[in-house]
Amino acid sequence: MKPTVALVGRPNVGKSTLFNRLTRSRDALVADQPGLTRDRHYGHGRVGAKPYLVVDTGGFEPIVDEGILFEMAKQTLQAVDEADVVVFLVDGRTGVTPQDKVIANRLRQSGRPVHLVVNKAEGLQSAMAGAEFHELALGEPVAISAAHGDGVRELMEIVLEGFPDKTEEESLRHPKFAVIGRPNVGKSTLVNAILGEDRVIAFDHPGTTRDSIYIDFEREGHTYTIIDTAGVRRRGKVNEAIEKFSVIKTMKAIEDANVAVLVLDAQLDISEQDATIAGFALEAGRALVVAVNKWDNLESEQKETVKREIARKLAFLDFAKFHFISAKEGRGIADLFKSIDEAYRAAMAKLATPKLTRVLKVAVERQAPPRSGAIRPKMRYAHQGGMNPPIIVVHGNALDAVPDSYTRYLEHTFRKVFKLQGTPLRVQYKTGD
Ligand code: GDP
Ligand code: GDP
Repeated sequence: MKPTVALVGRPNVGKSTLFNRLTRSRDALVADQPGLTRDRHYGHGRVGAKPYLVVDTGGFEPIVDEGILFEMAKQTLQAVDEADVVVFLVDGRTGVTPQDKVIANRLRQSGRPVHLVVNKAEGLQSAMAGAEFHELALGEPVAISAAHGDGVRELMEIVLEGFPDKTEEESLRHPKFAVIGRPNVGKSTLVNAILGEDRVIAFDHPGTTRDSIYIDFEREGHTYTIIDTAGVRRRGKVNEAIEKFSVIKTMKAIEDANVAVLVLDAQLDISEQDATIAGFALEAGRALVVAVNKWDNLESEQKETVKREIARKLAFLDFAKFHFISAKEGRGIADLFKSIDEAYRAAMAKLATPKLTRVLKVAVERQAPPRSGAIRPKMRYAHQGGMNPPIIVVHGNALDAVPDSYTRYLEHTFRKVFKLQGTPLRVQYKTGD
């Protein structure tokens, strides 16, 4: 599973600068789609073969900054609690501050692995830069310059030591779907409807609030794994009111699944949070099925309005199937499974090079990529570069000049010919061979 790295530190130490550096190289699958809200606190990074999720805890909540009374924001503490490893940034130019000491104490109490990082260390000698921070008693400080990039790669190698390389998915054997959505949309009700109340309780075992619950089950002779991001709550209904939505848990569940089932509440407006969660699934390249829940109790007029609103606000999910269900009454679930199966098959599809190349040639004949100045991009052949999501690599010359609109045309064509409903699809270019 991808580890989550939380960037923590007082304001101005360089968290967002480091965050941008860590997430920048990630290829943009999601060219700014209308309606897609991106949350710049959460991102994907990679060092060598090791992918990770990174969270910038800066700017979550106003930080109460009253000298020693400084308190870490609640969301920051939640992120620390849910992260696999914490990168604690301090400022090598200002030296140790009282806030740094308070944060250091909280981090030590958290029990999470912490790496102390001295930022803004360009031009300073590493040992010198770190020396005074030993007093924070968080081990040997690592000196970096987030702005210039010095030491960043080495830092991430240290931070990710012991976490696994990307493995080509042992999880690909059967659909493993995450039930995601904001609080109260009906995720637990849906999980219960799928599994039957008794079985959930039977499988339920104490975990920490950090984890989703994984349950294997069979349905009509097929095996599935459900990742229940809401499951924790069933144990302690008392805590329901204070249970906080966890973005990290949701992102991890998405990463670990091969299909995401996004649950929406038909009786409420589509919110920014819904769109953000959908965006996480899209950005992770996950196959997606949308379950618009609480479809009971709606007048037919309302149903039309809801459908229109969803189509407008979630237009960037046009590759996904939408189902209108009632988890409470157990309606619509059989069809939901058809789409889960379909999305899974599409995400795992094996696309042979000759057929891909044939489809590419036909597409180019029908509509050639436009010239860029005197240069016309030339497309020679295509091969599959990955699964979940399917990646189609087009080889040729001058492919840097291909406009996004043409890429979308190719995506559309491949999707139609190979029947890739339910999964995002990436078309990438490789010039020169
Ligand atoms: P955050 O509040 O912790 O997210 O900090 P920012 O990333 O916004 O950075 C605060 C300030 O420090 C900005 O003016 C950055 O340009 C600057 N800064 C960040 N990293 C470095 C660095 O490595 N060296 C220097 N000299 N300045 C940096
Ligand atoms: P979660 O926070 O996403 O896990 O949501 P819950 O499963 O706890 O459901 C939140 C509330 O919505 C509960 O009061 C449920 O009874 C209610 N609910 C869930 N599914 C439906 C549905 O299909 N129709 C209606 N009318 N209410 C539902």
